[in-house]
Amino acid sequence: MRLLRPSQYHKSIFDIDLDKLQAQGYRAIMLDLDNTLVKWNHPDPTPGLQEWLQRVGARGLSACIVSNNSGPRVSEFAAKVGIPFISNAAKPRRKGFREAMRRFGVTPQQTVVIGDQIFTDVLGGNRSGAHTILVVPIDPREFFLTQIVRKVERRVLRYLDRKGLLQRP
Ligand SMILES: [Mg+2]
Repeated sequence: MRLLRPSQYHKSIFDIDLDKLQAQGYRAIMLDLDNTLVKWNHPDPTPGLQEWLQRVGARGLSACIVSNNSGPRVSEFAAKVGIPFISNAAKPRRKGFREAMRRFGVTPQQTVVIGDQIFTDVLGGNRSGAHTILVVPIDPREFFLTQIVRKVERRVLRYLDRKGLLQRP
C-alpha cells in the first residue's frame, strides 16, 4: 500500500504549488501525458498547458513527458510543447523514469512524477524513489482497459482515505 500512496493529490496540474516544489529542491518533473496534460489521445496542447510549462521552466525545473503511449502520439505532442519525452515507458516499470533522470542528471530525490493513474504513474514513481503527485483524470472517456483498472483504483483511494493517508483535492 505504501507504494500506491501519492505524496500529493490534486484536481489538476494547475493546482500544484510550483514555488514549493522549487523551494523543496526538486529539479525535474516527469509528466504523464494522457488525462494528465490533455484528454486521452487528444493531439493538441491547450494554451493553459503551454503557459503552465513556461512557469515550470521559469522555476528551474526540467520537464519531460514519460508516457506508456506509443511513438508518434507522444513525440508529436512533445514537439508541440517543446519538451523531451520517453514513450513506451512501460510504467510502473522504473526504466522510463530512470532514463529520464539520467538524461537530466538528477537523483530520485530531486524528481517529481505527476500522473492520473495509481497503478502506473504513482506506483512507478514511488518505486523509482521520486515524489509522486496524483491528479484527477481530465476526462472520463479513456481506453477501455483503463476503465476497468479505475474500479480497483477507486478502492485503493477509499482505503487510503479511511487510513488518513490521503489529502483529497
Ligand atoms: Mg494517464
